[in-house]
Amino acid sequence: MDLSVNDAFVFMGGTFDPIHFGHLRTALEIQQWLGVKQVNLIPSKVPVHRNAPGCSSEQRLAMVQHAVAEEPALVADAREIESTQDSYTLFTLQALRQEQGSTTPVCMVMGMDAYLSLPGWREWQAFLDYAHIIVVARPGYRIQPDDTMAQFTERFGVSDTSELLSKPHGHVLIHEMTPLGISATQIRQLVAQGQSPRYLFPDPVWAYIKEHNLYGYNQD
Ligand code: ATP
Ligand code: MG
Repeated sequence: MDLSVNDAFVFMGGTFDPIHFGHLRTALEIQQWLGVKQVNLIPSKVPVHRNAPGCSSEQRLAMVQHAVAEEPALVADAREIESTQDSYTLFTLQALRQEQGSTTPVCMVMGMDAYLSLPGWREWQAFLDYAHIIVVARPGYRIQPDDTMAQFTERFGVSDTSELLSKPHGHVLIHEMTPLGISATQIRQLVAQGQSPRYLFPDPVWAYIKEHNLYGYNQD
C-alpha cells in the first residue's frame, strides 16, 4: 500500500440534478488537496431540503456514473439511493462511521450555500460527532453567515488539512478554491428552453439527458 495516501473517507452529497463540472472539479481538487485515494459522490434519494428533482433518483445516479466512468479518483456511491431509509444526512454519517470504524477521518464536502443552510437540516448539530465538514467557496454564494453559523465556524473551524486529518471528526475547514460558476438549475433551464447546456458538464451526461428526454428535453 502507498503510505503517502491519506486514509480518510471523503464524500460530497447532493441532488446532482444533473451532475456538472462545478461538482466534479470541486471533488477532484479536494481529492488532490487532501491526498486521499478518492472522493465519493453520493446522490440523495429523497431531496429532503429541496423541491423534487426533474428526473428519477436512478437517473441522477446513472448520470453520476457516466460522469466519473473515466476518473478513478471519483466514485459514484449509490448508498443513499439504494438505502431503504430516507436520505437524511445524519443517517448517512452514522452508517459511514459504523463502516469506517472509530478512528478513520470522515469528511463531508459541501459548497458554501449548502453549509450556510445547515440550520435547516435535521439534527445538523450532531453531524460533527461523526464527520468533519469541508466547505468550498462558490461564486454567487458569498452570503453572510448568520450568527448561528458564524459561531459554529468559529468554534469548530481549523485552518489546515493535517489538523483535520489528525482526528476522525469534529472540525470545519473552509477551503478557498476557484470553483466554477455552474449550477444544475442553469442546466435544467437551458435544456427546458431548448438551448444547449454543452460544456457545462460531461458530454456523456448530456447524451443521457437527450436519450431519456429529461428536464423537458425535446428533439424538435
Ligand atoms: P441546484 O441548482 O439544483 O441547486 P446545484 O448546482 O446547487 O443544483 P446540488 O446538487 O444542489 O447542485 O449541490 C450539491 C453540492 O455541490 C452542494 O454542497 C453545493 O454547494 C455544491 N456545488 C454545486 N455547484 C457547485 C459549484 N459550481 N462549485 C462548487 N460547489 C458546488
Ligand atoms: Mg444547490
